Amino acid sequence: MENCIFCKIAAKQIPSKAIYEDDDLIAFHDINPAAPIHFLIVPKQHIPTLADCTEAHAALLGKMALLAPRLAQEQGCGYQPGEQGGEATGGYKTIFNVGPDGGQEVYHLHMHVIGGPRPWRGQR
Ligand code: 5GP
Ligand code: ZN
Repeated sequence: MENCIFCKIAAKQIPSKAIYEDDDLIAFHDINPAAPIHFLIVPKQHIPTLADCTEAHAALLGKMALLAPRLAQEQGCGYQPGEQGGEATGGYKTIFNVGPDGGQEVYHLHMHVIGGPRPWRGQR
């Protein structure tokens, strides 16, 4: 897609701080982080929004969801359940913004993964 910033990042036409890449997905740090850890999981295929997805995208969406905890762990905000009465620690938000009322700014499907020690400055 011409003039799509995430297509350009996926194609390495503009730089990003990438943390993961495979044939289907790329993940990179958000340029304007809302929390100490904020990265985006992005399909290489141009799909404008979550609302454009169909059954044909189920495996891709599943792959994105399953990648989130793995990369969160690697980036330092993995969820650790409390064991033997101890407190759980870590964790993160996973967010798809959809459309204008959802606050979507970039119309190329992406999942935000947002975590790190609180308090955060952002409300996203
Ligand atoms: P949306 O509001 O569409 O869900 O989120 C788009 C996100 O992409 C925003 O958090 C914004 O900071 C991030 N973003 C926009 N342009 C760039 C860019 O060129 N590079 C990176 N790494 N992130 C970007
Ligand atoms: Zn795109």
